[in-house]
Amino acid sequence: APPFTILVIPGDGIGREVIPAAVAVLQATNLPLQFVEADAGWDCFQRCGDALPHETLDAARAADAVLFGAVASPSYPVAGYRSPIVRLRRELDLYANIRPVFDDPPPGDPRARRVDLAVVRENTEGLYAGRERVEDGGATAIAERVITRRASERIARVAFELARARRAARRADDAPPGRVTIVHKANVLRETCGLFRTIALDVAQAYPDVQADEMLVDACALHLATRPERFDVIVTTNLFGDILSDVACAWGGGLGLAPSANLGERHALFEPVHGAAPDIAGKGIANPLAAIGCAALLLDHLASRASPDTASAIRAWSERIRRAVRHVRAVGPHTPDLGGDAATSETTAAVIAHMLTL
Ligand code: NAD
Ligand code: MN
Repeated sequence: APPFTILVIPGDGIGREVIPAAVAVLQATNLPLQFVEADAGWDCFQRCGDALPHETLDAARAADAVLFGAVASPSYPVAGYRSPIVRLRRELDLYANIRPVFDDPPPGDPRARRVDLAVVRENTEGLYAGRERVEDGGATAIAERVITRRASERIARVAFELARARRAARRADDAPPGRVTIVHKANVLRETCGLFRTIALDVAQAYPDVQADEMLVDACALHLATRPERFDVIVTTNLFGDILSDVACAWGGGLGLAPSANLGERHALFEPVHGAAPDIAGKGIANPLAAIGCAALLLDHLASRASPDTASAIRAWSERIRRAVRHVRAVGPHTPDLGGDAATSETTAAVIAHMLTL
């Protein structure tokens, strides 16, 4: 079989430390993968005046999947600078942002909660549609929130398909059925959230094997913080999903462990939830487990595009990566964010070593 092409964009800061770790894990699988590297980010902007050179965008379009690190976007406006990740999501029409959170702490810890959920966030519209303006000579600022039938329907389908697939993967006969929780604020935002809610409930009709329920976004934030085990798949609009997925990350061991997938009809990009972490960049101590989790999500995606034989081989490796990450999470060696003193390279080596025993 011809190799899959993976475009690697390390970006800025710890992106350049954790993405090579993820690539090393993928290389250790011996799957037919071909890696191509490209430039993007703040350093790239300062060097060449473009945070996302067109060569990078072309390479992303041509690749079977993109593995993206992080970019250090300044919080103040800079002429000519636009965040390359926001642009990539738009240019590649990566409309679904999926953030799985898993935590299976050892029994006996009174705070221990078994968490296995995924936040599915609409990635292209809502309050991030880019429709902001000022009036009154700067005394009033206005953002428009755009919700469309098309985007709501396709994101709801992604969520219900995911719940179905997660149910199938749980295998055990007594495993609970899949559940999608539709999160909105339709009691106040009657038109925008109202449309999203109606469409998501319509889509639910096509998935009788998956339970559907709904929750207001503020209640969802509370339940995520106090009863995360009640959730399976959460589907919501762009800004709500951004915030709720960060809340959910707290259960999975924090930012250093949180991977995400950005999926569209034709393209797919995988990135850790964390940013460039300038406070620890260059020290070789960033936690690589989030980026390595991205490698597992990336393989799941390739499997969904491969022939049945190749697909099962690829899935077996993604499962080994996940198990190895869980193992290292449980027994170490841990990087400083998890209370240890291991280097990125030591944690990575331990994941690879364990993975190869499975
Ligand atoms: P951040 O995720 O970079 O860091 C937040 C905190 O978490 C820091 O203390 C950092 O050291 C720690 N941390 C993050 N990832 C870690 C890892 N793998 N291992 C150990 N510790 C880790 O978020 P921030 O500080 O808010 O932003 C820093 C820069 O990153 C900003 O320029 C921001 O624009 C950018 N950023 C980019 C993305 C992205 O590329 N998608 C996402 C978030 C922030
Ligand atoms: Mn965010």
